[in-house]
Amino acid sequence: MSNNASDKKLLSLLVPMYNESSVIPIFFETVTEVLTTLKLDYEIVCVNDGSTDNTLQLLLEYSSNDPRIKVVSFSRNFGKEPAMTAALDYATGDAMIPIDADLQDPPELIHEMIAKWDEGFDVVYAKRASRETDTVIKRNTAMWFYSLFNSMSDTDIPANVGDYRLMDKKVVEVIRKLPEKDRFMKGLFCWPGFKNTTVEFERPLRAEGETKFNMWKLWNFALSGIASFSTMPIRMGIYLGLFISAASFLYGIFIISKTVLFGVDVAGYASMMVAVLFLGGIQLFFLGLMGEYIGRIYKEVKNRPLYVVERTIGFEQ
Ligand code: UDP
Ligand code: MG
Repeated sequence: MSNNASDKKLLSLLVPMYNESSVIPIFFETVTEVLTTLKLDYEIVCVNDGSTDNTLQLLLEYSSNDPRIKVVSFSRNFGKEPAMTAALDYATGDAMIPIDADLQDPPELIHEMIAKWDEGFDVVYAKRASRETDTVIKRNTAMWFYSLFNSMSDTDIPANVGDYRLMDKKVVEVIRKLPEKDRFMKGLFCWPGFKNTTVEFERPLRAEGETKFNMWKLWNFALSGIASFSTMPIRMGIYLGLFISAASFLYGIFIISKTVLFGVDVAGYASMMVAVLFLGGIQLFFLGLMGEYIGRIYKEVKNRPLYVVERTIGFEQ
């Protein structure tokens, strides 16, 4: 049930926050400015992802002055994806927009998103028109990631679209039913499908504070994304195995013929080493890959909750 008395539609902003005390004041100021000009009711669902600064205190202050600001506070840091999942679980809006706290997702864009939603689109992606504010490395690796992901997975994700997007309630209801523990939200958000469109924006630099994601975290994030949406890497083992078997078979015929025709040749050290090392490398690689997927099965089977909520503020009942 939506908790608004009027018959206006309710928009939920979903904001994961980890040590964001430096941006919280400017975030609320900017966002409220935009939201109050909409012909909608709104709620801002903030998830405090186990911050170690005074993010929670600030959130409590703001929510006590404004009932539309609601807070879910985790018992520790669970990561952005679980925080987003929690926000989706708690929000009650007719449309929902996940948004970063650091104002890198410009709130002004909400107007355009709502307009598209009114036109009847169920998902409105906010796409970065360019990646000028990123380093060359990040820009290129991001591009490779999207093309690799989309070539391997059945669920296509649009390039240069972050979590910032509008989703109709019916899309969110499908996402809430997805049971997996490994939450690659970019993929999960796209999995339900529905009618979608795109609005473009330039991504500004972070308003305050610094990014919580370094290259190593992003690399692991990319691996985990591919492994949760594709079994193609494991399947490549079959093809590689077939290829190597065929090649060894041909090589075998070659060696045997050579021996029969020209007699025994002792110098086989090089070819033997090459074969042993090459095969050993391939086997280890795919053993690791199998481990990755088995690890995932293990994680799902344990079925631990995605996050632990310590307290909530501003929600009904
Ligand atoms: N975030 C979170 N938990 C984490 C890391 C990040 O909730 O463990 C939040 C963070 O507070 C911000 C959003 O996720 O609202 C995006 O983080 P950040 O700006 O550091 O990422 P970037 O923009 O560099 O990708
Ligand atoms: Mg950011």
